[in-house]
Amino acid sequence: MSAFGTSLFINGEFVAGEGRVETVYEPALRKPMAEVASASKGQIDQAVKAASGACRDWSQRTPRERSAALLAIAAAVEARAVTLAEVESRNAGKPLRFVKAGELANVADVFRYFGTAVRNMPAPAAGNYRSSVLTSLVRRDPIGVIAQIAPWNYPLLMAAWKIAPAIAAGNAVVIKPSELTPLSLLALSEVFAEILPAGVVNVVCGSGPDVGQALISHDLVRMISLTGDVRTGRAVLQAAAGPMIKRTHLELGGKAPVIVCEDADLDKLVETLREASFYNAGQDCTAACRIFAHRNVVQALTDKLKAMIGSLVYGRPERDDVEFGPVISARQLERVDGFVSRARAGGCDVMQGAPAESDGYFFSPTLVAAPIEAEIVQKEVFGPVLSITPFADVRTALDWANASEYGLGSSVWSRQTEQAMAIANALEYGVTWINTHGVMATEMPHGGMKNSGYGSDLSMQSLIDYTQIRHIMLG
Ligand code: NAD
Repeated sequence: MSAFGTSLFINGEFVAGEGRVETVYEPALRKPMAEVASASKGQIDQAVKAASGACRDWSQRTPRERSAALLAIAAAVEARAVTLAEVESRNAGKPLRFVKAGELANVADVFRYFGTAVRNMPAPAAGNYRSSVLTSLVRRDPIGVIAQIAPWNYPLLMAAWKIAPAIAAGNAVVIKPSELTPLSLLALSEVFAEILPAGVVNVVCGSGPDVGQALISHDLVRMISLTGDVRTGRAVLQAAAGPMIKRTHLELGGKAPVIVCEDADLDKLVETLREASFYNAGQDCTAACRIFAHRNVVQALTDKLKAMIGSLVYGRPERDDVEFGPVISARQLERVDGFVSRARAGGCDVMQGAPAESDGYFFSPTLVAAPIEAEIVQKEVFGPVLSITPFADVRTALDWANASEYGLGSSVWSRQTEQAMAIANALEYGVTWINTHGVMATEMPHGGMKNSGYGSDLSMQSLIDYTQIRHIMLG
């Protein structure tokens, strides 16, 4: 049975959901794209038990064997990139050309990287620390069943960030995609069905409070990994403190500050923000969404940003000239519009690009000149909206940035390396870019501080996060 749009993937089989039916929309058209039946409580239990059973064998496979499976998945993703990209583009409203060339290539790269990294994990040390015993060994073992909860903004890429390190390390997973965007992961499950032993990856669809909550609360789950909202992060922490204590790995929201010093290269900055602020319609947890600019350059920068925003092309994702598409849903459109309307009503200067088409959930790219205390500077908007606030001295900008509840992405712009490094060192953010923004490397860790969560995605660090350190002493 084909998975596409209608099924769950449990123990290597595509099965029809027995729970509530969720309508999945195509945001560029405001039209239904598929009906996906959610997992029932019994099916969630089956998926977790299938993962638990599969783990016994999978955890004992050598890194070489697990690596071979991940490399095969990477090759299969590349072979099906066009189909997967079309599904992702329609369901998430992303420009097709970017999904094909960028996101799908990154999905394959993530599986390939973790397939390679697991063979390069150094063997932990052995030594003798007591005269009464022969030796002590340290092992890095899989944790067991990992419940993974993915968001809608990069449905397949975030799923890859979660699944690849977890299974490379020898765990088995039950992953729940967002109820808004389950289709690409269901399509990718056909690859899992061909390559992985049954039960190593299971996919259950449905809403957060219903299917997600039941999954993260299951007693056989040993670790919960979430990419989502801060509120959902709190629900995960509560579930982790249930009868069976669970590990957690949280990638939550962000509100990335862009600190622009007096000597910054403004043209390079504006060129970078064209993508760093507006890619994916700004629905990115590291989107460059609030600029703190030195007062001596704020006017020149505002003029350049207005010109850039006026030239941004957005619209239907299948067009090959668009830089971004719609936001994900009617609710998100209303939310973004609410932030901008309140900023305008509060006296902020609002500048917008070309008016939005009305057939999809489109929002015009927007620049808001706002004081530091404005809601639009403090809260995560998650849309194509950028704010600009002047500062008089760098210390003030640093204090503003660090006062945020969030601590994920940030950037500093200055031609003086020492000044830029000093600011970067003092920022309480998991990722800081200097004279660039939003550039990722699979080999480098990605994670936050404070309400942005903890735990690393990508890099060897993520592989380590999905393992358990153990001590064995030989008497
Ligand atoms: P969300 O938290 O509403 O949903 C994320 C996932 O959590 C969905 O699959 C949802 O169904 C599930 N969920 C919701 N309530 C749940 C519950 N009680 N139990 C279990 N699962 C539950 O967030 P979203 O709207 O899908 O995603 C946007 C948010 O994610 C933004 O805040 C964004 O910043 C954040 N995000 C963070 C990163 C990162 O790397 N830090 C990456 C992408 C998105």
